[in-house]
Amino acid sequence: MRLSRYFLPVLKENPSEAQIVSHRLMLRAGMIKQQSAGIYSWLPLGFKVLRKIENIVHQEQARAGHIPMQMPTLQSADLWRESGRYDGYGEEMLRMQDRHGRDMLFSPTAEELFTDVFRAHVNSYKDLPLTLYQIQWKFRDEIRPRFGVMRGREFYMKDGYTFDLTKEDALHAYNRHLVSYLRTYERMGLQAIPMRADSGPIGGDNTHEFLVLAETGESEVFYDREITDLKFGDRQIDYDNVEQCQAVLEEFTSRYARTDETHDEALFNEVPEERRRVARGIEVGQIFYFGTKYSEAMGATVQGPDGKPGEVHMGSHGIGVSRLLGAIIEASHDENGIIWPEGVTPFHVGIVNLKQGDDEADAACDALYQSFTAAGLEPLYDDRKERAGGKFATMDLIGLPWRITVGPRGLKNGVVELTCRRTGASEELPPEQAVQKII
Ligand code: ATP
Ligand code: MG
Ligand code: MG
Ligand code: MG
Repeated sequence: MRLSRYFLPVLKENPSEAQIVSHRLMLRAGMIKQQSAGIYSWLPLGFKVLRKIENIVHQEQARAGHIPMQMPTLQSADLWRESGRYDGYGEEMLRMQDRHGRDMLFSPTAEELFTDVFRAHVNSYKDLPLTLYQIQWKFRDEIRPRFGVMRGREFYMKDGYTFDLTKEDALHAYNRHLVSYLRTYERMGLQAIPMRADSGPIGGDNTHEFLVLAETGESEVFYDREITDLKFGDRQIDYDNVEQCQAVLEEFTSRYARTDETHDEALFNEVPEERRRVARGIEVGQIFYFGTKYSEAMGATVQGPDGKPGEVHMGSHGIGVSRLLGAIIEASHDENGIIWPEGVTPFHVGIVNLKQGDDEADAACDALYQSFTAAGLEPLYDDRKERAGGKFATMDLIGLPWRITVGPRGLKNGVVELTCRRTGASEELPPEQAVQKII
């Protein structure tokens, strides 16, 4: 992409409404524009990163054998009356009526819809296990939308639903999700720690939230420092293998790690004092086994091996796709701007032409552009007639992992400058070698 033809409305000034760094940087980098409280337009740069994150989620879901589909954003209130949640859900639910006076709502979550599809089309235990998921816009009328996309009212969420014949099978589905989420977050350059969470009125132990440690996080968290040494890495997992998934769950959840909602001071005190940590975290996902709550209320059963109707054990598993942009920036930035992890960067490399209009510099930039494109990478070429300082500031702000600076003086010696955004380290080298370092 040539910057002169792109739409990147960066802001010079710090927007006064932004209280935390990720919100400030997303506005300054021209990624989002607020339309009303907690509702945003996704400008091209923000949209590009959102798509990258979404793609990673899809790829990791596919690896775990989960099936994507799409539900409507608007639901009929009748389904929620059936499950018994309509009246109790409260003011976070955006309710409306159509022209016939029928009660509708904008989906805050979709247990009812998925259970409805399931009961309409799945009749036999032979069709289980089944995991269906979507990535779709949700609406929750948060009392205090704030921090940009971190706590929006309209937000983009991956929500998956598991259907199994027994509790045992459903717990495997739960473990499978935990494993796939660990991989998913790591690919985005994040450490998201599974923490024992509160299952609320439904009860039970089987729910974990994934938290990214950050000072601006809304949850207070208590954990054993050892947990931050754990890495999932590129280990190969057979997602059908019950023991393997269980072992990963045990590895990642055996140490103390809880949010304020489930914190137990006495248990925490059993952790050696030098390893006890109290910090803040951003909830980027949650997994949940809730048994037959919805299947029973909505009459979803399957014919069991004995020919009799059998119950269906369910779970739901969410990732805050749009919140992740904020979480990644909170975890990865400096005073000059964002530092995108390679896995989610909107462009792989920035090309800065110090003397636009100079034949040699233009040709060298064009050649670099071609090389990257041919290698399947996306360069962002700042081909505007702007001062170098302004070009550097924009590149630092939008946080591409690499910058190549091209100018007549360097080209005389056959070199360009390659700069790593994260370390700030620069080196001069021939253009072909700079390309080789990045691809
Ligand atoms: P929170 O505690 O932050 O209100 P939640 O527990 O109500 O979140 P879940 O129902 O668990 O949210 O939804 C799954 C994921 O969706 C959350 O882990 C979070 O990452 C994301 N999410 C929830 N609410 C919002 C919101 N208002 N804006 C952006 N993302 C959200
Ligand atoms: Mg909430
Ligand atoms: Mg929560
Ligand atoms: Mg939650």
